[in-house]
Amino acid sequence: MSVNPQRETWFRAPGRVNLIGDHTDYNEGFVLPVAIDLACTVRSRPREDGVVRVTSQDAEGVIELAADGSTLPRAVDEVWGRYAAGVVGTLAERGRPPVGIDAVVSSTIPLGAGLSSSAALEVALALALCDAAEFELPQLELALACQAAEQVATGVPCGIMDQLTSLAGKHNHALLIDCQSLEITPIRLPPGLAVLILHSGTSRALVDSAYAERREACESLAALLGVTSLREATPEQVADEPRGRHVVSENARVLEAARALEAGDVDTLGALLNESHQSLRDDFEVSTPELDALVEALREAGAVGARLTGAGFGGCVVGVADRSVAERIVETAAGRYWASSGHQPRAYVFRGVDGAERIPAQAAP
Ligand code: ADP
Ligand code: MG
Repeated sequence: MSVNPQRETWFRAPGRVNLIGDHTDYNEGFVLPVAIDLACTVRSRPREDGVVRVTSQDAEGVIELAADGSTLPRAVDEVWGRYAAGVVGTLAERGRPPVGIDAVVSSTIPLGAGLSSSAALEVALALALCDAAEFELPQLELALACQAAEQVATGVPCGIMDQLTSLAGKHNHALLIDCQSLEITPIRLPPGLAVLILHSGTSRALVDSAYAERREACESLAALLGVTSLREATPEQVADEPRGRHVVSENARVLEAARALEAGDVDTLGALLNESHQSLRDDFEVSTPELDALVEALREAGAVGARLTGAGFGGCVVGVADRSVAERIVETAAGRYWASSGHQPRAYVFRGVDGAERIPAQAAP
């Protein structure tokens, strides 16, 4: 097909924080993420030679890939380039014509912090690639392509929450996602509510191996109980199984949290966040002393509730508080945590933002 190399486009895709519902997505359960006001931006122009060339302002290297998807992610030296190769490959499998692009990536999402810079990169690149080839996929298909890209790039059997949230995020809303049907229900955040995020400053070293191990434990337990996934298990069936107890109780908490949000009941939401942390710490065993300390610091500083968010073993904690006091709470908690742990946390206060979109040239950064 003929392309216009002068046609420059910009796409942005947001990161996300999961308000509640961790280690539930791969058990076909429920999650309640919020798209956040940090994003990956991709500026691109079509190329006529069938080459996808990507550079990043946040990482070294020039990535050159065949636009027909024939460059395998594992053949790319730069780890970050494997995500790009994954996206080019999974879009080619879905029929994207092999149009090349010149793309420059830059992100305000801290990389590797648990705020989903990887999904934002995949989604922004996927939109740029589709646009250059005048190729369209429904939102869910695009999310599935990006999820598959992440899986081939990393070898980690990740769920679909990150990619779906980056695409479907909604201003001032959280998204209740049913990971079995993939149905998305936007849930409005009460007007006075702020979502607080503190990054622990510790890397998620064990996360990939522990994630695969936990996932396998859940699948084995489901098989033992004769259910297709732990989504189908009852509290009685998992009463003596800590891993299953976490998943079954966490699913119930997500649904209750969505109801609490709709009712504007922030106290109940906060209590559910606290219970979720306890369950992730004691039953699922994915917390760390740093995450526990940060959760405690947020609560002491006045957050209505707080919990580790994401896969665990480092990364971020999330809390909720009234907007009027949110900034003060994260600053106080960050200061206390820094003094006691020696790790300097990064603090953010958000409401939900819209999902990935084209940015008009005049609004581009
Ligand atoms: P998270 O998604 O929570 O930030 P991951 O470990 O899943 O953490 O993904 C982080 C990886 O994604 C980075 O190490 C890098 O390889 C890639 N990545 C994300 N954003 C960018 C970017 N802007 N430029 C280059 N690589 C990126
Ligand atoms: Mg990621």
